[in-house]
Amino acid sequence: SSYLGNIPMGKPDPILGINESYKSCTDPRKVNVCVGAYRDSSGMPWILPSVKLAERRLLDDPSSNKEYAPIAGDGKYVDLALKFAYGSDGDIVDLSNIAGMQTLSGTGACRVGGHFLSKFVPKPPGLSRVPIYIPSPTWGNHISIFEETNMDVRRYRYYDYGTNRLDYHGLIEDLSNAPDGSVILLHACAHNPTGCDPTMEQWHDISELLLSKGHVVFFDSAYQGFASGDAEMDARALRYFVSRGHKVMLAQSFAKNFGLYGERTGTISVVCSNPNEKMAVLSQLKLIARPMYSSPPIHGSNIVRTVLTDPELTSMYYDNCGEMASRIRSMREKLVNALKEVGSLHDWGHVTEQIGMFAFTGMSADMCDILTAEYSIFLTRDGRISLAGLNDGNIEYVARAIHAVTD
Ligand code: PMP
Repeated sequence: SSYLGNIPMGKPDPILGINESYKSCTDPRKVNVCVGAYRDSSGMPWILPSVKLAERRLLDDPSSNKEYAPIAGDGKYVDLALKFAYGSDGDIVDLSNIAGMQTLSGTGACRVGGHFLSKFVPKPPGLSRVPIYIPSPTWGNHISIFEETNMDVRRYRYYDYGTNRLDYHGLIEDLSNAPDGSVILLHACAHNPTGCDPTMEQWHDISELLLSKGHVVFFDSAYQGFASGDAEMDARALRYFVSRGHKVMLAQSFAKNFGLYGERTGTISVVCSNPNEKMAVLSQLKLIARPMYSSPPIHGSNIVRTVLTDPELTSMYYDNCGEMASRIRSMREKLVNALKEVGSLHDWGHVTEQIGMFAFTGMSADMCDILTAEYSIFLTRDGRISLAGLNDGNIEYVARAIHAVTD
């Protein structure tokens, strides 16, 4: 028999598999509310006009080339990306003390970051691996990523399915019980999949707790600007933690806010105490990247650099980003109104309170299965609906279907 004959079939990715089923479905009523990508009001992918302009400039620029980027990526891009996240130099933090490296989007940032943590963060006494606490629920890939990097993946309570709100007491209890010096993963804004973020008062108390325990904070920021339409507002938890002197790392993605999904554009950064520390950390990040993929792709970072260096393009970009956020927000409200109009008596207030790309509806897996089987509405089985997949042409249909399965 073949030497490959004993390989078991791997599990399909839970999210990407649903997209495939959507594509092959022939029902004309079909709706894809599984996608984690923006769609415009006619259901089509959207290239931001500011991004298109930047691409045109790059194409026409005689000095453009396809040379390799350095291992740590395009230094100018990294500087601009860090300023986008942490604020202008000196406002909150001395940017020259932050070790930053370009990565393959947010996933690559988490992966490199996890590798760095597992290698260099001191293990709490008695533990053989560095513990990382990730919220329950969270973006599904977090679990696999941090397991792959040899971290001890543990969960903290995040969501209360009874009230459809943050499980604040569960969160505080679990993070208090984590061994001192653990790594705590926090979604910087627009928690995926729940759309439920702590309030500023809660962030304050979480910060107090994590400071007192000496925990390392790993921010995953995949929705800055995309969540509220205001990139400054969406960065406030990160900046608040940095201003209070936490040990902070940041995984940053430009997939959603710049619509650069397939361009794989992100950064990993570590807030250091002084330039020597920064140089050592950066050297180690590069040693992780080099044997993994050598250097990052350049098209997406060229775009972000071009947009963020030109004030006109930057301001156009902020408008484009705001437009996405406001369409999503309006779909959130329209969905809740449509549910009322078709006769749903449930309280959907949590859906309006949530923020970001998704409505975490509270529907059971069985209800989701019926939505897919009988209505050709494709969503993940946790009841998460991508608001980007909704538009004026399908929202009433979706509301009627949700009402039918939840009535
Ligand atoms: N973190 C979170 C919470 C996400 O939702 C996503 C995208 N779904 C990512 C990271 C990473 O995405 P990407 O690798 O495309 O930047």
